[in-house]
Amino acid sequence: MLRVRKRWWSPVVIALSLALSVGTLSVSAATPDYQSAGDEATKILSEYLKIDTTVPPGNEQKGAEYLASVLKKDGIESQILETAPGRACVYARLKGNGKKKAIVLLNHIDVVPANAADWKHPPFCGEIHDGELWGRGALDMKGMGIIQLEAMLLLKRSGISLDRDIIFLGTPDEEVGGIYGAGWMKKNHPELLKDAEFLINEGFSIEADDSGKAKYWGVNFAEKGALWLELTAKGQAGHASMPLTDSATNRLVRALYKIEKAGPNFKVLPPVEEYFKNVSKVENGELQSTYANIAESVKDPSKLKLIMSDVLKSSMLRNTMSLTVMKAGYKTNVIPGEATAQLDCRILPGYTKDEVIDWVKKTIEEPNIDIKVLEWEQAQPSNIDTELYKSIKEVAAEEAPGIPVVPVLVPWFTDSHWFRELGITAYGFEPVETDRVHMATMHGVDERIPVKGLQDGVRRMHKILEKSAGSK
Ligand SMILES: [Zn+2]
Repeated sequence: MLRVRKRWWSPVVIALSLALSVGTLSVSAATPDYQSAGDEATKILSEYLKIDTTVPPGNEQKGAEYLASVLKKDGIESQILETAPGRACVYARLKGNGKKKAIVLLNHIDVVPANAADWKHPPFCGEIHDGELWGRGALDMKGMGIIQLEAMLLLKRSGISLDRDIIFLGTPDEEVGGIYGAGWMKKNHPELLKDAEFLINEGFSIEADDSGKAKYWGVNFAEKGALWLELTAKGQAGHASMPLTDSATNRLVRALYKIEKAGPNFKVLPPVEEYFKNVSKVENGELQSTYANIAESVKDPSKLKLIMSDVLKSSMLRNTMSLTVMKAGYKTNVIPGEATAQLDCRILPGYTKDEVIDWVKKTIEEPNIDIKVLEWEQAQPSNIDTELYKSIKEVAAEEAPGIPVVPVLVPWFTDSHWFRELGITAYGFEPVETDRVHMATMHGVDERIPVKGLQDGVRRMHKILEKSAGSK
């Protein structure tokens, strides 16, 4: 798969460059030595993984300073923007000619906690074992941060003329909400991002089968909205020896049961239909025919079990509600006067929060249960008819002929939402094959990235940026 040139400049390109340097035409750069770049990225990531940026408390400033020091070696100056004590963003910009608007390379510096006793190799070792680089954050998402950084270094070194600025932005706090990271940037320094058209972040990758072979390149163009609700029932308290049919607990349980029993209410959005159509091509048997015409399949009760067996894909087809928190009572023999439950609802683009709340009210048929909104983030899909999306498709065609590029609506959310709110077209795409085993290590134990995956990622990211930002 590796298409590597050992030399930075081929003689032909040197001659061509010299010939064109006297004119006004823009010069496209030679193919970089991707092998050396991949080796360099591996070393940089190894050092980066040794810096413990677990949230809480984060201490991401150490990570930000490390990234700034790497950029500085190539003459790229960074700003360290402190968001809270010990916590900081790193922001750097590679200047283009300003013909087009900038691309932001967004990555978070913080990582989730790791319990060293559960890991095969220490979570902050940054060591290579069996061709894989180990450490908390290798996949989520220090690895992607270094792929972006190395791609930026390659652009700088090649001297290629850019129509767009490339902005590198590392942020703290993503894993706990982003208020002191991406949210802080949006609130305090929108001027640093106001000329950006695109953003590339984590959010999806190249889905691989169990043998590591690519199935499709998934570009997260939208994340579902989040609506967190608290339902509270109030009623008469009493002695548990004399049951009250309409106690707060009984009424709440009946209401929740109705929500659970309501089952999935499917809505197939056009980009989601396209997603399933593409994915059907890499599936077999009944799954293939089911996905090929998903809009019809969701109406067929005999296909329900199969559709619902994939929790990720089926979540793209409907609003979901997970019962997460329940509180009531303090003593076994006392009927409590109040009971509450919290629902984490993930909502497709196009719905308002009032529509969802109305559905809950109608379903529970319980006017005396109070519904409070704890959190509401509306889904903000990004357009996929863009130069950047086209560039990803072109690179996929070069790198992995026959493997489709597919827009993905994901049920979780990342820091992309802060920037979509600023009107920036944001894609979650890590150009690395990720199989189920590696996926499970994110936020789990033994997180690691195959060195080949990291190195392929650098090459692909560089190509995507060159195509979408390089002067034509
Ligand atoms: Zn992440």
